[in-house]
Amino acid sequence: MQTPVFRFAPSPNGHLHLGHAFSAMLNFRAAKALDGRFLVRIEDIDKARCSPQLEADMLEDLEWLGLSWETPVFRQSEHFETYASALRSLEKRGLIYRAYLTRGEIKRFVATYEASGEKWPRDPDGAPLYPGDDAVLSPEEENARKDSDAAYALRLNMGLALQEVGSNLSWWEGPSEWFDGAETADSWYQGQRVLAEPADWGDVILARKDVPTSYHLSVVLDDARQDVSDVLRGRDLYHATSVHRLLQSLLRLPEPRYRHHRLVLGEDGRKLSKSRSDASLRELDAEGVSSEDLFRGLALSK
Ligand code: GLU
Repeated sequence: MQTPVFRFAPSPNGHLHLGHAFSAMLNFRAAKALDGRFLVRIEDIDKARCSPQLEADMLEDLEWLGLSWETPVFRQSEHFETYASALRSLEKRGLIYRAYLTRGEIKRFVATYEASGEKWPRDPDGAPLYPGDDAVLSPEEENARKDSDAAYALRLNMGLALQEVGSNLSWWEGPSEWFDGAETADSWYQGQRVLAEPADWGDVILARKDVPTSYHLSVVLDDARQDVSDVLRGRDLYHATSVHRLLQSLLRLPEPRYRHHRLVLGEDGRKLSKSRSDASLRELDAEGVSSEDLFRGLALSK
């Protein structure tokens, strides 16, 4: 059997909280249990929101948890050229397009559409699907934006992408499904294949207006580049896996095994997040909570 490779891939735009600790520990333990490798990947494509100080704090917190990982650590901000080259290949194949609409324009379009009583479709995260520039702009306005170097995002033409993958089924099994394992390392082999529904996302963003790549694009390229065999991450990313399977097919990348674990929720049942003041690991440490207490609390102790 090939050596299993697990990774924990935080974005250093805040401090590690309990949800991260849970995910990191599950990956570390699964890698150990299977005699595999454990990697940490810093997902810092959004340079405006990430900082070297937060990255250093995150790594220190992971050490506090008792984890160790291979070095040097892979930093996405050092690989923009890889993402650009994948975008060029998709562009050559006519699979991505420049999308000029602003958030405000999309919002207004949806409000006008829904005023008639019909719902505009939303993606699994609740964001409205991209209507297409020509649904909002006149041909003159569209041309004016192109001529004036207005900011644009690069979006996948979902319809064409699905067609292209459909015709490639002989090369790869297609994005129509993925392997989704059961929740914990102990029940790893009880997974099943589930249906992927990338169309639910509409024309997803592959490069943002302010960042020359996107989470979806970088994550599939880097999982392949780092030989990640097992992606073990939170349930909140379950639907994103459909997009990842599609991109893996389009870019001829191997399909890792996926598992989506439960989320650690706040007392009121909501998801923990870095933007709110949910207790970070450093706050717990300051309050005298040890990493052992933490594992017990997360039902992770042996
Ligand atoms: N960087 C992502 C996050 O902070 C996780 C990416 C992944 O595990 O695929 O939520």
